[in-house]
Amino acid sequence: MNIVLLGAPGAGKGTLAEALEKKLSIPSISTGNVIRKALKSGTEIGNKAKDIVEAGRLLPDDMVVGIMKNELKGDKFKSGFVLDGFPRTVPQAEALDKMQFVIDKVINIDVNDEVIAKRMSGRVVCEDCGSTYHLVNKPPTKKGVCDLCSGKLSRRKDDEPDTVKNRLLIYHEETEPLIDYYKKQGKLAFVDGGGGIEHLVESALSALGC
Ligand SMILES: [Zn+2]
Repeated sequence: MNIVLLGAPGAGKGTLAEALEKKLSIPSISTGNVIRKALKSGTEIGNKAKDIVEAGRLLPDDMVVGIMKNELKGDKFKSGFVLDGFPRTVPQAEALDKMQFVIDKVINIDVNDEVIAKRMSGRVVCEDCGSTYHLVNKPPTKKGVCDLCSGKLSRRKDDEPDTVKNRLLIYHEETEPLIDYYKKQGKLAFVDGGGGIEHLVESALSALGC
């Protein structure tokens, strides 16, 4: 089964993708991680992309499509995948529809902006191993230090409050039209993302008929 997750930044796409990966035994693909890997590559295109992301802007569609197309070539995605963070715009969705896959189901996670702003302001990431924590929901044992590797915890540039505000604006303008795009294809399901992760996973599984 090929699944796309939609929702504002911070709606819980990443957490849901990981949960579905375990429940359905199909790999999840974090577009954020794929792109961050590209940003660290040190290539000319990677550095160009880095400047754009650090300014809180989204990468141009052709850059994202190129990076994701390359990632999706892998054999491990042949029997299905859960896409988190791609497509993000209608042109990206059109490009995905031209790839070798048929998307079976699209899950849109509903959460309001206020809840999202609150969630993201507490999110910190380990600079060494990439583990994520939340100052309120999942605090590290020792403040500022990773439980797993003792690395330093810091807030990602794109989780800073001003950047979050900007990302939400862009989401409403550029990503929300995907709801109509997939509704017209008859693939869309809505799930409530305001009620905690267990509720979210259950709702998504029932939307998928699993
Ligand atoms: Zn760590």
